[in-house]
Amino acid sequence: MAKANGGDLPFLVAGGGIGGLITAYALARKGFPVRVFEQAAGEFKELGAGIQLGPSIFRAIERVGLKAGMMDDAWVPPSIEMRDALSGERVTTIPLGEPFTARFGQPYAVTHRADIHGVYLRACQGNNLVSLENSRKVDDFVDKGDEVAIRLEGGEEVRGRALIGCDGMWSKVRSRIVGDGAPRVSGHIAYRAVLKREEVPDDLWRPDVVLWAGPKTHFVHYPLRRGTLYNLVAVFHSDRYVEGWNTVGDPEELFKRFNGQRPEVLRLLKRIETWRMWVLCDREPVKDWSKGRVTLLGDAAHPMLQYLAQGACMASEDAVALAEAVAASPHANPGAFKAYSGSAISAPGACS
Ligand SMILES: Cc1cc2nc3c(=O)[nH]c(=O)nc-3n(C[C@H](O)[C@H](O)[C@H](O)COP(=O)(O)OP(=O)(O)OC[C@H]3O[C@@H](n4cnc5c(N)ncnc54)[C@H](O)[C@@H]3O)c2cc1C
Repeated sequence: MAKANGGDLPFLVAGGGIGGLITAYALARKGFPVRVFEQAAGEFKELGAGIQLGPSIFRAIERVGLKAGMMDDAWVPPSIEMRDALSGERVTTIPLGEPFTARFGQPYAVTHRADIHGVYLRACQGNNLVSLENSRKVDDFVDKGDEVAIRLEGGEEVRGRALIGCDGMWSKVRSRIVGDGAPRVSGHIAYRAVLKREEVPDDLWRPDVVLWAGPKTHFVHYPLRRGTLYNLVAVFHSDRYVEGWNTVGDPEELFKRFNGQRPEVLRLLKRIETWRMWVLCDREPVKDWSKGRVTLLGDAAHPMLQYLAQGACMASEDAVALAEAVAASPHANPGAFKAYSGSAISAPGACS
């Protein structure tokens, strides 16, 4: 049984996505009790499709013993290749695999969002200091100086030693800490889908991350889950949408945008029956996201467009950096939170 570290009250985490779960686990590993409040009903689960994982995430999660679990289901592509979506010409190739790992000390891999979430969820479920609570929406909070009280939807109040807002792009906690309104709509739309390996024609299947760059569009594909799945992401520019996250996309709109592109692109796009659509948003970076006993993490702190392929990686790095800062001064959470958000600003990849 893990031993509790300092004080009786738990850390309160708003949001049980990728950032919230790794935060809970990293803190619990240091001996702190944590309660995670997730608004979704049913069970803790992750939707979505594939994500790319740069070396920074592996450096971070190796420190909390989760790298091997993550690599079990991940795919390590031999290269990232960029092609012209009109001519088919190869624009550039970035070798990954061994040469990359030798240079950066960690691999470049791709995985399903559900797989990374699953690794973090199992780690939390195996630690008796973590309490995972569904259908629990955090509505508001009060920082009382020596503790924090949150109010859940329905009116219940819960006390904790501090609050960590891991509640994503539209974070309620952020609205009280930074107060910069709604996220910025980028005008870029992502359609994502995942096929089974056998649904991909052999001549179109590639072990690499392949990006087809077209006029105001791009299309990316790569294998997932030890090669048993195939991830497709189609992005185009459009001002038509103002908000939306993980809703069903309109294939007609997609084919209009990709009209005239290479047969390899169109044949793969046609394999999909149901696309999920994301209206991509971000925010202007801020210098600080901690105030007293409340801080932010992951997309709630620093959301970014998917072009950087770093949102989930940075949420994971944040969590490890936060737990280490808190463990270094367990009775001075406000100072530890400042040290954490300051280190994330001054040294991107603070776990390097
Ligand atoms: C198209 C696309 C491609 C991407 N590709 C990559 C990639 O290649 N590599 C990469 O690293 N990242 C990528 N990302 C980014 C990555 O998915 C996000 O950065 C990451 O999921 C952020 O995790 P999070 O836990 O901070 O937020 P979220 O995943 O948004 O989780 C927030 C959680 O909080 C819950 N919640 C919200 N409000 C409340 C509340 N009031 N009370 C309780 N619970 C609440 C939500 O239900 C959710 O479960 C991509 C994103 C998109 C859209």
